[in-house]
Amino acid sequence: MLKIALTHDIDRIEKTYQFISKPLKFIRNGEFNNSIKSLKSFIQKDNYWKIDDIINIEEKYGVKSTFFILNESIKFNVLKPSTFVLAYGRYSIYNPRLVDTIKWLDKNGWEIGVHGSYNSYKDKDLLQKEKETLEDIVGHEIIGIRQHHLNLNDQTWKIQNELGFKYDSSYGSNMYCGFLNNQFNPFYPKNTNILVIPQVIMDICLMRNQNYIEEITKCLDLAEDNDAIVVVNFHNDKFNTADYPFYRDAYIEIIEQGKSRNARFKTLKEFNEEIRYSQLDIEELEVGGLVRMV
Ligand SMILES: [Zn+2]
Repeated sequence: MLKIALTHDIDRIEKTYQFISKPLKFIRNGEFNNSIKSLKSFIQKDNYWKIDDIINIEEKYGVKSTFFILNESIKFNVLKPSTFVLAYGRYSIYNPRLVDTIKWLDKNGWEIGVHGSYNSYKDKDLLQKEKETLEDIVGHEIIGIRQHHLNLNDQTWKIQNELGFKYDSSYGSNMYCGFLNNQFNPFYPKNTNILVIPQVIMDICLMRNQNYIEEITKCLDLAEDNDAIVVVNFHNDKFNTADYPFYRDAYIEIIEQGKSRNARFKTLKEFNEEIRYSQLDIEELEVGGLVRMV
Protein backbone atom coordinates (compact mmCIF):
# COMPACT_ATOMS: atom_id res chain seq x y z
CA MET A 1 0.00 0.00 0.00
CA LEU A 2 1.19 3.46 -0.85
CA LYS A 3 2.64 5.47 2.05
CA ILE A 4 2.86 9.27 2.10
CA ALA A 5 4.45 11.61 4.66
CA LEU A 6 3.64 15.29 4.14
CA THR A 7 6.18 17.78 5.50
CA HIS A 8 6.87 21.51 5.47
CA ASP A 9 10.19 23.25 5.98
CA ILE A 10 9.43 26.65 7.52
CA ASP A 11 12.29 28.68 6.05
CA ARG A 12 10.58 32.06 6.41
CA ILE A 13 7.32 33.41 7.76
CA GLU A 14 7.28 36.84 6.16
CA LYS A 15 7.91 38.24 2.74
CA THR A 16 10.86 40.68 2.76
CA TYR A 17 13.23 41.23 -0.16
CA GLN A 18 10.99 39.08 -2.39
CA PHE A 19 8.64 42.07 -2.84
CA ILE A 20 11.28 43.30 -5.26
CA SER A 21 13.03 40.13 -6.41
CA LYS A 22 9.96 38.10 -7.42
CA PRO A 23 8.37 40.67 -9.80
CA LEU A 24 11.82 41.25 -11.34
CA LYS A 25 12.30 37.55 -11.89
CA PHE A 26 8.92 37.28 -13.63
CA ILE A 27 9.81 40.25 -15.87
CA ARG A 28 13.15 38.64 -16.79
CA ASN A 29 11.23 35.51 -17.84
CA GLY A 30 8.78 37.56 -19.88
CA GLU A 31 5.92 36.67 -17.52
CA PHE A 32 4.40 40.15 -17.19
CA ASN A 33 1.00 39.09 -15.84
CA ASN A 34 2.66 37.11 -13.07
CA SER A 35 4.87 40.07 -12.30
CA ILE A 36 1.83 42.32 -11.77
CA LYS A 37 0.12 39.67 -9.61
CA SER A 38 3.23 39.42 -7.48
CA LEU A 39 3.43 43.21 -7.10
CA LYS A 40 -0.24 43.33 -6.12
CA SER A 41 0.36 40.69 -3.44
CA PHE A 42 2.11 43.48 -1.52
CA ILE A 43 -1.26 44.53 -0.17
CA GLN A 44 -2.28 41.01 0.89
CA LYS A 45 -1.91 39.95 4.49
CA ASP A 46 0.12 36.89 5.41
CA ASN A 47 2.05 36.76 2.19
CA TYR A 48 4.44 33.98 3.16
CA TRP A 49 2.96 32.79 6.44
CA LYS A 50 0.39 30.44 4.84
CA ILE A 51 0.47 27.96 7.73
CA ASP A 52 -3.27 28.48 8.29
CA ASP A 53 -3.93 27.67 4.65
CA ILE A 54 -1.89 24.44 4.96
CA ILE A 55 -3.83 23.43 8.09
CA ASN A 56 -7.14 24.09 6.31
CA ILE A 57 -6.14 22.01 3.27
CA GLU A 58 -4.96 19.13 5.44
CA GLU A 59 -8.04 19.23 7.66
CA LYS A 60 -10.24 19.10 4.59
CA TYR A 61 -8.55 15.86 3.47
CA GLY A 62 -8.14 14.42 6.98
CA VAL A 63 -4.34 14.25 6.84
CA LYS A 64 -1.59 15.51 9.18
CA SER A 65 1.94 16.61 8.42
CA THR A 66 5.30 17.45 9.99
CA PHE A 67 6.44 21.06 10.30
CA PHE A 68 10.22 21.53 10.52
CA ILE A 69 10.91 24.83 12.29
CA LEU A 70 14.09 26.77 11.46
CA ASN A 71 15.99 28.79 14.06
CA GLU A 72 18.59 30.44 11.81
CA SER A 73 21.27 32.49 13.57
CA ILE A 74 23.67 33.18 10.71
CA LYS A 75 24.81 36.82 10.59
CA PHE A 76 24.62 39.05 7.56
CA ASN A 77 28.17 39.44 6.21
CA VAL A 78 28.68 42.10 3.58
CA LEU A 79 31.74 40.26 2.24
CA LYS A 80 29.92 36.94 1.92
CA PRO A 81 27.02 37.10 -0.57
CA SER A 82 26.05 33.55 0.43
CA THR A 83 24.86 34.91 3.79
CA PHE A 84 22.49 37.52 2.27
CA VAL A 85 19.49 35.31 1.61
CA LEU A 86 20.07 33.20 4.71
CA ALA A 87 20.32 36.25 7.00
CA TYR A 88 17.55 38.35 5.43
CA GLY A 89 15.05 35.51 5.44
CA ARG A 90 15.56 34.99 9.16
CA TYR A 91 12.73 35.05 11.66
CA SER A 92 12.61 34.77 15.43
CA ILE A 93 11.46 31.40 16.69
CA TYR A 94 9.95 33.38 19.59
CA ASN A 95 7.61 35.28 17.26
CA PRO A 96 4.39 35.09 19.36
CA ARG A 97 2.19 34.03 16.48
CA LEU A 98 4.65 31.29 15.56
CA VAL A 99 4.97 30.06 19.15
CA ASP A 100 1.18 29.84 19.47
CA THR A 101 0.94 28.02 16.14
CA ILE A 102 3.71 25.53 17.01
CA LYS A 103 1.94 24.72 20.28
CA TRP A 104 -1.43 24.39 18.56
CA LEU A 105 -0.06 22.09 15.85
CA ASP A 106 1.74 19.96 18.43
CA LYS A 107 -1.39 19.56 20.56
CA ASN A 108 -3.64 18.74 17.62
CA GLY A 109 -1.82 15.82 16.03
CA TRP A 110 0.61 17.52 13.70
CA GLU A 111 4.31 16.95 14.31
CA ILE A 112 6.94 19.56 15.09
CA GLY A 113 10.54 18.83 14.07
CA VAL A 114 13.80 20.76 13.96
CA HIS A 115 14.83 22.34 10.68
CA GLY A 116 18.56 22.47 11.44
CA SER A 117 20.05 25.90 10.59
CA TYR A 118 22.48 26.34 7.71
CA ASN A 119 25.64 25.52 9.71
CA SER A 120 24.15 23.11 12.23
CA TYR A 121 24.90 20.00 10.14
CA LYS A 122 28.53 20.31 11.32
CA ASP A 123 28.08 22.08 14.67
CA LYS A 124 26.85 19.92 17.54
CA ASP A 125 26.55 22.76 20.09
CA LEU A 126 24.51 24.87 17.70
CA LEU A 127 22.19 21.99 16.83
CA GLN A 128 21.79 21.11 20.50
CA LYS A 129 20.71 24.69 21.25
CA GLU A 130 18.18 24.60 18.42
CA LYS A 131 16.74 21.28 19.60
CA GLU A 132 16.46 22.45 23.20
CA THR A 133 14.88 25.78 22.23
CA LEU A 134 12.14 24.03 20.29
CA GLU A 135 11.67 21.44 23.05
CA ASP A 136 11.16 24.28 25.54
CA ILE A 137 8.41 25.66 23.30
CA VAL A 138 6.49 22.39 22.88
CA GLY A 139 7.32 21.10 26.37
CA HIS A 140 8.57 17.67 25.31
CA GLU A 141 11.29 15.87 23.36
CA ILE A 142 11.64 16.47 19.61
CA ILE A 143 12.73 13.38 17.69
CA GLY A 144 12.78 14.48 14.04
CA ILE A 145 15.01 16.68 11.96
CA ARG A 146 15.65 17.90 8.46
CA GLN A 147 18.71 20.04 7.72
CA HIS A 148 18.22 23.37 5.90
CA HIS A 149 19.31 23.05 2.22
CA LEU A 150 19.53 19.29 2.94
CA ASN A 151 23.08 19.97 4.18
CA LEU A 152 24.85 16.78 5.19
CA ASN A 153 28.41 15.69 5.67
CA ASP A 154 29.95 12.53 7.07
CA GLN A 155 29.48 13.77 10.66
CA THR A 156 25.88 15.02 10.53
CA TRP A 157 24.06 11.77 11.36
CA LYS A 158 26.58 11.05 14.15
CA ILE A 159 25.90 14.48 15.66
CA GLN A 160 22.13 14.11 15.33
CA ASN A 161 22.32 10.63 16.86
CA GLU A 162 24.34 11.88 19.85
CA LEU A 163 21.77 14.62 20.43
CA GLY A 164 18.98 12.05 20.64
CA PHE A 165 17.20 12.58 17.35
CA LYS A 166 15.44 9.39 16.22
CA TYR A 167 15.05 10.14 12.54
CA ASP A 168 16.40 12.46 9.85
CA SER A 169 14.82 13.36 6.52
CA SER A 170 17.62 15.36 4.89
CA TYR A 171 18.64 12.63 2.50
CA GLY A 172 17.34 13.44 -0.97
CA SER A 173 17.84 15.68 -3.94
CA ASN A 174 17.11 19.38 -4.25
CA MET A 175 17.48 19.08 -8.03
CA TYR A 176 14.97 16.41 -9.00
CA CYS A 177 12.11 14.30 -7.62
CA GLY A 178 12.61 10.63 -6.86
CA PHE A 179 14.90 8.48 -4.77
CA LEU A 180 18.51 9.61 -4.51
CA ASN A 181 20.87 6.74 -5.44
CA ASN A 182 17.77 4.52 -5.74
CA GLN A 183 17.67 4.36 -1.98
CA PHE A 184 14.04 3.38 -1.53
CA ASN A 185 14.15 2.10 2.02
CA PRO A 186 14.81 4.01 5.21
CA PHE A 187 18.17 3.00 6.69
CA TYR A 188 20.47 3.42 9.68
CA PRO A 189 23.83 5.08 8.95
CA LYS A 190 26.43 2.65 10.29
CA ASN A 191 27.00 2.82 14.07
CA THR A 192 24.01 5.06 14.72
CA ASN A 193 20.46 4.56 15.85
CA ILE A 194 19.03 7.35 13.74
CA LEU A 195 16.63 6.26 11.04
CA VAL A 196 17.13 8.11 7.74
CA ILE A 197 13.84 8.46 5.86
CA PRO A 198 14.63 9.82 2.38
CA GLN A 199 12.93 12.94 1.05
CA VAL A 200 11.32 12.24 -2.33
CA ILE A 201 9.37 15.24 -3.65
CA MET A 202 10.51 18.79 -2.94
CA ASP A 203 8.27 21.58 -4.23
CA ILE A 204 10.84 23.45 -6.34
CA CYS A 205 12.09 20.23 -7.96
CA LEU A 206 8.57 19.14 -8.81
CA MET A 207 7.62 22.51 -10.29
CA ARG A 208 10.68 22.64 -12.55
CA ASN A 209 8.77 20.05 -14.49
CA GLN A 210 6.34 21.35 -17.13
CA ASN A 211 3.92 18.55 -16.36
CA TYR A 212 3.87 18.30 -12.60
CA ILE A 213 0.80 16.05 -12.53
CA GLU A 214 2.59 13.41 -14.60
CA GLU A 215 5.69 13.77 -12.41
CA ILE A 216 3.62 13.20 -9.26
CA THR A 217 2.08 10.06 -10.79
CA LYS A 218 5.57 8.80 -11.71
CA CYS A 219 6.89 9.29 -8.18
CA LEU A 220 3.85 7.66 -6.58
CA ASP A 221 4.13 4.68 -8.96
CA LEU A 222 7.81 4.29 -8.16
CA ALA A 223 7.16 4.39 -4.42
CA GLU A 224 4.27 1.95 -4.64
CA ASP A 225 6.32 -0.51 -6.72
CA ASN A 226 9.14 -0.38 -4.17
CA ASP A 227 7.05 -0.25 -1.01
CA ALA A 228 8.69 3.09 -0.20
CA ILE A 229 7.41 6.18 1.61
CA VAL A 230 6.78 9.29 -0.49
CA VAL A 231 8.18 12.04 1.73
CA VAL A 232 6.84 15.32 0.38
CA ASN A 233 8.45 18.65 1.29
CA PHE A 234 6.42 21.78 0.52
CA HIS A 235 7.63 25.08 2.03
CA ASN A 236 4.89 27.29 3.51
CA ASP A 237 5.82 30.35 1.39
CA LYS A 238 5.22 28.31 -1.78
CA PHE A 239 1.49 28.39 -0.96
CA ASN A 240 1.51 32.05 -2.09
CA THR A 241 -0.22 31.58 -5.42
CA ALA A 242 0.83 34.98 -6.79
CA ASP A 243 4.55 34.29 -6.42
CA TYR A 244 4.39 30.53 -6.95
CA PRO A 245 1.67 29.72 -9.49
CA PHE A 246 0.38 26.12 -9.31
CA TYR A 247 2.46 25.07 -6.27
CA ARG A 248 -0.63 24.97 -4.04
CA ASP A 249 -2.50 23.04 -6.75
CA ALA A 250 0.37 20.58 -6.95
CA TYR A 251 0.29 19.96 -3.20
CA ILE A 252 -3.44 19.24 -3.38
CA GLU A 253 -2.86 17.00 -6.42
CA ILE A 254 -0.43 14.86 -4.39
CA ILE A 255 -3.00 14.44 -1.62
CA GLU A 256 -5.81 13.69 -4.08
CA GLN A 257 -3.78 11.16 -6.06
CA GLY A 258 -2.75 9.55 -2.77
CA LYS A 259 -6.34 9.42 -1.53
CA SER A 260 -7.54 7.89 -4.80
CA ARG A 261 -4.96 5.11 -4.34
CA ASN A 262 -5.93 4.58 -0.68
CA ALA A 263 -2.52 5.71 0.50
CA ARG A 264 -1.70 5.69 4.19
CA PHE A 265 -0.84 9.24 5.27
CA LYS A 266 1.22 9.48 8.44
CA THR A 267 3.63 11.93 10.01
CA LEU A 268 7.31 11.02 9.85
CA LYS A 269 7.25 10.44 13.60
CA GLU A 270 4.55 7.80 13.13
CA PHE A 271 6.38 6.15 10.21
CA ASN A 272 9.59 6.17 12.28
CA GLU A 273 7.84 4.21 15.03
CA GLU A 274 6.15 1.86 12.61
CA ILE A 275 9.43 1.01 10.85
CA ARG A 276 11.48 0.65 14.05
CA TYR A 277 9.01 -1.74 15.62
CA SER A 278 8.32 -3.74 12.49
CA GLN A 279 9.84 -7.15 11.95
CA LEU A 280 11.66 -5.86 8.90
CA ASP A 281 15.42 -5.84 8.67
CA ILE A 282 16.54 -2.25 8.39
CA GLU A 283 19.69 -1.75 6.36
CA GLU A 284 22.78 -0.29 7.98
CA LEU A 285 24.74 1.73 5.47
CA GLU A 286 28.23 3.21 5.41
CA VAL A 287 27.92 6.97 5.29
CA GLY A 288 30.88 7.53 2.94
CA GLY A 289 29.65 7.78 -0.63
CA LEU A 290 26.06 8.48 0.44
CA VAL A 291 26.40 12.10 1.44
CA ARG A 292 27.07 15.11 -0.68
CA MET A 293 29.84 17.07 1.01
CA VAL A 294 28.91 20.67 1.69
ZN1 LIG B 1 15.12 25.09 4.61
